[in-house]
Amino acid sequence: MGMLDEILTHNAEYVATRQYEALQTDKFPDKGLAVLACMDARLVELLPQALGIRNGDAKLIKNAGALVTAPWGSVMRSLLVAVYALRAEEICVIAHYDCGMSAIDPSEILAQARQRGISDDVIRTLRVSGIDLDGFLKGFANVEESVRNTCTLVRQHPLLPRDVPVHGLIIDPSTGRLDTIVNGYTVMAAENATEASPQ
Ligand SMILES: [Zn+2]
Repeated sequence: MGMLDEILTHNAEYVATRQYEALQTDKFPDKGLAVLACMDARLVELLPQALGIRNGDAKLIKNAGALVTAPWGSVMRSLLVAVYALRAEEICVIAHYDCGMSAIDPSEILAQARQRGISDDVIRTLRVSGIDLDGFLKGFANVEESVRNTCTLVRQHPLLPRDVPVHGLIIDPSTGRLDTIVNGYTVMAAENATEASPQ
């Protein structure tokens, strides 16, 4: 049985036995929280449990590495929509130790793409047309630095309201322990102090 069949079989049973009733809520996050986290499979249940987040508590955005790579890309748009349309009041960026994006090698990915039937011609054409494939596929060397950079990018986005703190955390993918890398309240207080000080 293929994965889709397996999912659909489970789904029919799930709906028929009304298991969804325990999870019913609305689209507004009860904790006023938007979370950008890594897509790592170890975090599927661990992340919400370790944060004390239940269904309906937060907007959860996931990608490889918990990264915002472009100020005008879909992740930043999701965070802005969470704030403006869905009442998120605080943002947490949550990366994790032992992240696949810290070891990713663009040339290795491209070698695998070739093995999977993507021709050299296609790769050459992309490069010639100005697509920075290595930049596109690269991860980060240091997870702390990556979280700091992402928090700064989000916090300094021209469309993010000034009263939204952006916290940066790293989660241990086996124990769920959180390390605070960026305390969004401290950052906001420091910004306010700088703005208030006479020139
Ligand atoms: Zn990861």
